[in-house]
Parts: sequence; structure tokens; C-alpha cells
Amino acid sequence: MNLNYMALAVPVFLFFIGLEYVISKKRGRQVFNFTSSLTNMNVGVAERLIDMFTAASFYFFYEYLHQHYAIFDIKPGILMWIALVLATDLVWYWYHRFGHEINLFWGFHVVHHTSEEFNYTAGTRITVFQAFIRTAFWAILPVIGFPPAMITTMLIVHGLYPFFTHTQMIGKLGFLEYILVTPSHHRVHHASNEVYLDKNFGDMFIIWDKLFGTFAEEKETPKYGLTKQLESHSFLWQHFHYLVELGYAVKSTRGFFNKLKIIFGSPADFDPDFRVLAEKRFLSKHKVRARSQKFRLYAVIQFALMVTTLFFLLLFEHYITSYIQIMIALTIFVTLINCGAILEQRRWVFYLEFTRAALIVVITYHYFPHPTTFLFLAAVTTGCLAYFSSLQKQYLNMIYGR
Ligand SMILES: [Zn+2]
Ligand SMILES: [Zn+2]
Repeated sequence: MNLNYMALAVPVFLFFIGLEYVISKKRGRQVFNFTSSLTNMNVGVAERLIDMFTAASFYFFYEYLHQHYAIFDIKPGILMWIALVLATDLVWYWYHRFGHEINLFWGFHVVHHTSEEFNYTAGTRITVFQAFIRTAFWAILPVIGFPPAMITTMLIVHGLYPFFTHTQMIGKLGFLEYILVTPSHHRVHHASNEVYLDKNFGDMFIIWDKLFGTFAEEKETPKYGLTKQLESHSFLWQHFHYLVELGYAVKSTRGFFNKLKIIFGSPADFDPDFRVLAEKRFLSKHKVRARSQKFRLYAVIQFALMVTTLFFLLLFEHYITSYIQIMIALTIFVTLINCGAILEQRRWVFYLEFTRAALIVVITYHYFPHPTTFLFLAAVTTGCLAYFSSLQKQYLNMIYGR
């Protein structure tokens, strides 16, 4: 059987999240917040999904670069593997550092930092844009001469490692602190304390930070999250807010070179008023009623079903047609937006439910293309449309309470 074993990352990550939760409870530490954890893991689901569709095309891209532009003819061997680990991590260091020091790249990387908490769920929170930007940075590796098969193997390891540095449950790790990026180092990276800002960009090795002067040791207790919290759980807003703010900043600046200065300028100098402007335009504030807890349960059930679907979709990737892969991916994306909207108690979530139901109908019909299925689905759809408004009312009452 030709299974995609990368799918196993899903249950392994969930296991560690569960373990961390149990240990934190035992130690009486409050490191999990329901809404925030769920939002983090939703972002992770989206990233895995995008990765499934893009991984193969990046392999061919590296293959093309390697065939046409490789400077050295590198053959796999122990020394070359070590060289590749170091090269990959060095490129990552600069990719990550630019992600913090240049507005345009921060617009993509910020998603990883909007988490209000620091635990393994934050480790899954990787922006969906990363697949594209990071791959572009790593295009240097096949040009140096590393074979694409070596690179993609390395990127799997390099992609899994940082998950494990996102925890408050592990203290300092002795001599490893001198070589590897440890949870302690990465806590500093995620903190908004003045002394910790723009520090510890490394992914696997801490040596680059020491070499390029961005290292800070964990001394005072870190405060996690952005200097100004986002206060929104919307899946789309978390991904696009900074780009929208940047768009406003560029629009209000005169002159081509001044605009470029904003795009490639530093997030530290970015005018916070653009956040206010963007929020006013795109984020309708509304009161969230705290009374009903039912919608939480509903969000959890949706998440559980979605993660199970994702796991099987990844595992049996080679046995599912592209058409159905896209349909399932769309259903998952609608569910992600849905989860965010439910946590914010948005009323338009009902329209999303309809869209999702339509996608599920299409997938069901693909597997059971029988006239009876068609008639049954048609009858259910007609019924739903006929009673649209009363269904909507009942649905909203059910999940948010009266
Ligand atoms: Zn970062
Ligand atoms: Zn991180």
C-alpha cells in the first residue's frame, strides 16, 4: 500500500498536546485557554492541508533548479547530510529573521505569533503562506547542488522539530542549551517583554543567533503574544489583518519609493493607527454572549470530525482523486472559517453551514452515484430551502442560546 506516513504527525501532535494538558493540570499551571487553543489548531489544520497540495509541486521546482542551475554535484553521504542540516537551518534563520524585521514578511509570519498562549497548540499554528515563502527561500539549496530528494527529507525533519520547542512544561536542558534551540530559547522568541523582542530566530540550532547577535537567555518570566493583542478568532482576519493594515499604509503614502520603504520597512516603526483603521473597516465588533456554552461543544465536535477527516485524507492521499481531494479540502476550509465564526458567535455562520452541506452532498453523490441518492438529496435540499428562515432561527438558538 502506498500510504502517506506524514499523516501520522496529526495523531502524534494531538497526543503531545493531550500529554502537556494533563501535566500542566497536575502541576496546577494554567497554560491552556479553550478558544485560543482551538484557534491555534485550526490554523495548523489549514497549513497541513495546503502542504498536501503544494509539496509535490515544490519537489518539481527544486528538481528543475537542481538540473539546470546546480553549482556543485553533491552526493548523499554523512558529511553532506550534516552540511545540509546546517545550510537548511541557516536559511531558516534568515527567513525567520526577515519575517520579523520586514513588514511584508511579517504580514505572513505574524500568524504564528498571534497566539495568546504558549503551548504545543501554538506549535501547530503555522501560517498557510509559509509553504510558499519558505520554499522560495530554500530554493537556494538545490542551486548549491543538494539533490531534491535530500532536501525534501530534510524539510520533513526540520518541519517537525519546532513543534516540540513550544512548551512551558520543560525547563532548561543542560548542555543542549548551547547547541539546540530548546523550549527555553523559543519561549524567549514568543515573549513580548522588551528585552526579548526580536531574539532567538533559530529553528534547530541556537548557534546562528549567537553568531549574528540576536541571542537572549531566558531570565525574566516571558509574557506571551503580541505587544498589542488581536482580539479576534476569525480565521480569515488572523491571516490577513497585517496585510490589510500594510495596504492602508501604502495607500496613504505618496511616492513610489516611500511606498517601497513602508513595504520593506520594519514592523517596529509601523503606525498602529492602521490597525484601528483596518478593524473599523473590516471587523464589525459585536457583543459576545457568554451565557451559552453549547457552541463550544459544537466547535469541539466540528474540530474532532475535521481532524479525523484530515488524517485519513493525508494517509490515503494517493488513492483519492484530485477532484475529491479539492472538495474535501474546501469542506475543511469552510469548517475552519465556521469554527472561528462560531467562537465569535457570528450569525452568518448559518450560510456557511449551507455551503458545507452542499459540498458534502457533492462528495456523497460522487461515491454513491445512484438515482435514489440523487432524489433523496434533492428532497432534503428542497426541504431545507423551503424552511430556510425557520431553520436558521432554530439553528442559531440551538448553538448560541436564546
Ligand atoms: Zn517568529
Ligand atoms: Zn514559535
